[in-house]
Amino acid sequence: MIKRSFNDIATWVNGEAVGLDNAPVEVAGVSTDTRTIRDGNLYIPLVGENFNGHDFVKAAVENGASGALWQKKQPNPPADIPLIYVEDTLLALQDLAKNYLASLPAKVVGITGSNGKTTTKDMVTSVLATTYKVQKTEGNYNNHIGMPLTILRLEEDTEMAVLEMGMSGRGEIELLSMLAKPEAAIITNIGESHLQDLGSREGISEAKFEITAGLRENGTFVIHGDEPLLTDKVTDSPFHVITFGNSKTNDFYPVQIKQKSDGTYFTINGEDETEFFIPVLGKHNINNALAAVAIAKQFGVSTPNIKKGLEMIKITGMRTELIQGKDGVAVINDAYNASPTSMRAAIELLQDLKDYKKKIVVLGDMLELGENEETFHYEVGKGIDFAKINYVFTFGKLGNKIAEGAKVNFSENQVFAYDDKQALIVKLKETVGEGDIVLVKGSRGMKLEEVVTALT
Ligand code: ATP
Ligand code: MG
Repeated sequence: MIKRSFNDIATWVNGEAVGLDNAPVEVAGVSTDTRTIRDGNLYIPLVGENFNGHDFVKAAVENGASGALWQKKQPNPPADIPLIYVEDTLLALQDLAKNYLASLPAKVVGITGSNGKTTTKDMVTSVLATTYKVQKTEGNYNNHIGMPLTILRLEEDTEMAVLEMGMSGRGEIELLSMLAKPEAAIITNIGESHLQDLGSREGISEAKFEITAGLRENGTFVIHGDEPLLTDKVTDSPFHVITFGNSKTNDFYPVQIKQKSDGTYFTINGEDETEFFIPVLGKHNINNALAAVAIAKQFGVSTPNIKKGLEMIKITGMRTELIQGKDGVAVINDAYNASPTSMRAAIELLQDLKDYKKKIVVLGDMLELGENEETFHYEVGKGIDFAKINYVFTFGKLGNKIAEGAKVNFSENQVFAYDDKQALIVKLKETVGEGDIVLVKGSRGMKLEEVVTALT
């Protein structure tokens, strides 16, 4: 984490340090939250809609902070506390992260895309960690506040930083990329998340492309090559473009795939003697792994180390997680999030799995899809393969549209639509038995992990 003097920090944030008489020489790390503050931290008070961090500066110092930033227009700055006056504490946090990162030797890999950012970040980290000292974004700290905080946690001797870059609208990825100045960037895919705000998939693609804004000259640009909205834009790219995906036109594509209950085995073009293994399910995760392989090779990681790194990945929770539940029922917990692309990927994964008696999907609303949301849900339902799935359960108002779509191919007594989660759980428990597998997926707001808990 950052360890610098108040004066150095004041220079970096273009601020003015006061009250340093009793201040410790150095600041050790930063925090925006008085509840998790550590001794020596610089407290950065942010001004939000419902709170004002300046109200807690005193508490921060009582809890161990060595001092704080202070936004000039805020009234009543406390006396006797080391403060750095700035115009805007959020911009100061970002400037601080930018300048700190620039002072470090660490090279940055930036990751964006509609789905699979966190998973790909975990995979890239795991393969690079076989060869380098690597730090990554923890959890989902991927926005204009979380990413700077992640950067300020980097150690002086870290060689590579793997940063997730998320967004909810235009301009956000550009800001993150300009701040992080990545050596390499990945766009995992283009889906439908944020369609409501960005209008079209083309709009989403343009927003993701902002990751090139800060990409260094001759930087590596890794993209999902099966997506025309991405490949069309790189015909004249100043960057070293590498593509991955299912199609054989990509630089990296899978050749042999074996889906087993402990994970996925696959080989890659041009490297048929090595069988890679990832302890996660689904073809979409092979794509995420291929992006990691592309990055690893670019940074000189050997094939045996890539293999080792992929085997050891630790995926952040609730993302296509296979759990052995009660009474011999297996559960795929994908309750973390959902969009049409990721929902189709998860359903396809379940359809491909063998060795289970009955296969059941429990699908909830996919939120924030904009005006065509009902059609998206209906199409997902219609796309479920009735020859490979036994029952379709849906939860929520939009989930009901999935049920309607499913009824095009399924018979009435295979499709159950609920608005009441407890009633769904009761019916589901009556339906499942030993040797069955249940996929649970929906948007975060639908809290479908409650269904997972009921089964496990
Ligand atoms: P967020 O925007 O919430 O940060 P994310 O982009 O970080 O999401 P992950 O958390 O890695 O994405 O994965 C979320 C879900 O997306 C997974 O549970 C899985 O269902 C799906 N998913 C992951 N990778 C892909 C992919 N390459 N293509 C399609 N769907 C994917
Ligand atoms: Mg994420």
